[in-house]
Amino acid sequence: MSYKLLSVFLFILAGFSSLAQNDYLNAKAEINEKIYPGGQAHEVRIFPQVLTEKNPKNIILFIIDGMSLPQMHAALTANKGKLYLENFRHMGFLKTHSANNYITDSAAGGTALSTGKKTYDGAIGVDVNKKPLTTILEEAVDKGLATGLVSTSAITHATPASFIAHQVSRNMYEEIAADFLKTDIDVFIGGGYKHFTERKDGRNLVEELKAKGYRVEQDMNVIRNIKTGKLAGLTAAEHHGRMSERGEMLTMATNTAINILSNNKKGFFLMVEGSQVDWGGHAGSTIQIVEDMLDVDRAIGNALEFASNNKETLVVVTSDHETGGMTILNGNYETGMVIGEFTTGGHTGIMVPIMAFGPGAQEFTGIMDNTEVPQKMRKLIFDN
Ligand code: MG
Ligand code: ZN
Repeated sequence: MSYKLLSVFLFILAGFSSLAQNDYLNAKAEINEKIYPGGQAHEVRIFPQVLTEKNPKNIILFIIDGMSLPQMHAALTANKGKLYLENFRHMGFLKTHSANNYITDSAAGGTALSTGKKTYDGAIGVDVNKKPLTTILEEAVDKGLATGLVSTSAITHATPASFIAHQVSRNMYEEIAADFLKTDIDVFIGGGYKHFTERKDGRNLVEELKAKGYRVEQDMNVIRNIKTGKLAGLTAAEHHGRMSERGEMLTMATNTAINILSNNKKGFFLMVEGSQVDWGGHAGSTIQIVEDMLDVDRAIGNALEFASNNKETLVVVTSDHETGGMTILNGNYETGMVIGEFTTGGHTGIMVPIMAFGPGAQEFTGIMDNTEVPQKMRKLIFDN
């Protein structure tokens, strides 16, 4: 076999292999991935916002992993000057440092947003002494609210895991999967099927979930039509692929979760993660950042439409940290072209935006610490 043929073969082989848990950390984008050439823009609607003195019954929290202003502005440019994010009239900034680092990772960042406590990098729902912390999702379950998690990564990955699992390391995927059985969460949709089935301890968590009354489904076209009951949607073996491969999975999963959770008249707490903006930052890919920002913007649009009609739902959009030290060198609002540049392949310590819509939105303005976010959300939905 010639060298050329061999490399084509290897390239095809690489394309078929699933995205392993940490592959995104080593992915390096082609130089031309720094340029998003422009493309289809989605329509953006502005929804009426109800700001009452009454507290919200429901909270939908979006975490866009790896997003700060450059990623937002790249998406705004790519979508030809408009985003659903423009619905937000209340916004501020979060300081994101962890307990042991100026620059946080997604585990400590997620745990700060889920529990209100700073912890060490890599920690999932545990404090600096490795003791379990109660998350806002667990507290919502205890108070009789419906709860859900949605992610474009594996559901066992750091960000969603921080809301339901308690493990000393983010790499303990099988232990994290087992923690999903310890909480009465109503809906979770994301990748990570193999952490529930191919396990060192021999347990089959899919069977255990079914025994607990969950419908376990892997096909998004089935999942999207489910309106009631407990649902475990495990829609990829590990992480989902990029937008071109996974399609509108995030929007469909967000809609499904809202449909199911809104059956609970006491209220609900839902966290939705747009995971792969972070991976675009690690890879230095403006294209991946833009595609994933636009993906989560459409999901946010649906959540805002629900919140605007429902009038008792607070939508909060924020991030755990910025990734890539991104800046924008040029762009074009007519074509949607954006040229990004990156100063690091890792995270940075710069502040991230926080935006809120609906009752309670007034709480999320100014500069605050990431730990204040769950404290404010708890006050709003639990102190009724
Ligand atoms: Mg994440
Ligand atoms: Zn990252």
